[in-house]
Amino acid sequence: MRVIVVGLGVIGRAVSLGLSRRGISVVGLDARGPLHREGSSHGESRIIRTAYYEHPDYVPLAKESFRLWTRLERETLGVGNLLENRACLTVGKPDSEVVAGVVRAAAEHGLAVEQLDAGELEKQFDWLKSGQGWKGVLEQEAGILHADRCRQALARRAGELGADLRFETAVREWGSSQLGVWVKTDGGVVEGDRLVLCPGPWALGLIGPIAKPLRVMRQVSGWTEMAGGVPGGLPVFFFDTHEGYFYGMRAADGTGVKMARHYGAPECGDVGEIENEPVLQDRLCLEGFAHKHTPGLCELGNQETIGRMEVCRYTLSPDRHFVVGELPGHCGLAHVAGGMSGHGFKFAPAIGEMVTACLLEGKRPLEMFSPGRFG
Ligand SMILES: Cc1cc2nc3c(=O)[nH]c(=O)nc-3n(C[C@H](O)[C@H](O)[C@H](O)COP(=O)(O)OP(=O)(O)OC[C@H]3O[C@@H](n4cnc5c(N)ncnc54)[C@H](O)[C@@H]3O)c2cc1C
Repeated sequence: MRVIVVGLGVIGRAVSLGLSRRGISVVGLDARGPLHREGSSHGESRIIRTAYYEHPDYVPLAKESFRLWTRLERETLGVGNLLENRACLTVGKPDSEVVAGVVRAAAEHGLAVEQLDAGELEKQFDWLKSGQGWKGVLEQEAGILHADRCRQALARRAGELGADLRFETAVREWGSSQLGVWVKTDGGVVEGDRLVLCPGPWALGLIGPIAKPLRVMRQVSGWTEMAGGVPGGLPVFFFDTHEGYFYGMRAADGTGVKMARHYGAPECGDVGEIENEPVLQDRLCLEGFAHKHTPGLCELGNQETIGRMEVCRYTLSPDRHFVVGELPGHCGLAHVAGGMSGHGFKFAPAIGEMVTACLLEGKRPLEMFSPGRFG
């Protein structure tokens, strides 16, 4: 069987690797270069966590992803470490979506978490300020993925196993027939037996009507700088505040903390509408959070708490769950893995295995990811 994978962000690369591991011939195509920063997968880091507030059904996927990232790290030693184990601290009102969701997922899956009231929280983590009556939940099965290295390792291992990954090769059109699938690029037509579309925020141009309910959201990460260095053993943290969700983690070079707001920005119909440069408002938003809730992680005397910033894009489904499975109207020949809704990186290897099992064994992905669920 020959499978064409379109889009080689973290998801397309993981799908290519999953298939290559099973001896399937893969041709991967991406419009941009291997290190491009225009999509969703670039940057120094992503959080991986297991007690999943979004839905307990993600917990087994997170566990599998932990195992698969660790395996990939062993297989690609020259790339450097991919996964750094760190606890994850979730903070907010006890009945907030995030705090209550973490507790629910942990209880349903028997995950060990430590629950702390506001006093205990501020004593144990003296860099933070919580709200009145808030609580914290600390889980150990979490950490930081080194995103750019993960992308590199996925491509390298897939290549070693025979995948033919072609960058700077935009797909202009695709289709299926009784003979299989085809895609048109500027360099000619590529034919195969199956097609997997992993377009990230460019879904609208590539997956037709299924993409209609998807929206793109601009997201900005910012870095603080701390002359004294970051507190030892700093967990990754996720706050559910009155102003929205914010998260952060140790910067890769240890000189400060990377912070971002999760969701909360306007939704666009097309990735072309996104402003690619950070603006003052982005800095003010992150500084507002940092000054109020993590004063010990920024230098308050400093006029600009947030220095460097970087823009990235989410591709949101209406229910914030992924869109993975068969595309209707192509007799099982065309599949999609997209709409990763701002939390897909950690799961990439598990999604790669899920798509592989779907193509090779007819095993349907989770119902909550069904591409047809929005009507
Ligand atoms: C700021 C930020 C922070 C995040 N934090 C986390 C986190 O902590 N934990 C987590 O798990 N997730 C996180 N995410 C989400 C995660 O990064 C994304 O869900 C994931 O990267 C999506 O990957 P993708 O492969 O679907 O998309 P992309 O990486 O955008 O890849 C899509 C690819 O398709 C290619 N393409 C599109 N159209 C065509 C075409 N016509 N022909 C050829 N190629 C095409 C593009 O060039 C691109 O390379 C974060 C995202 C952002 C933006």
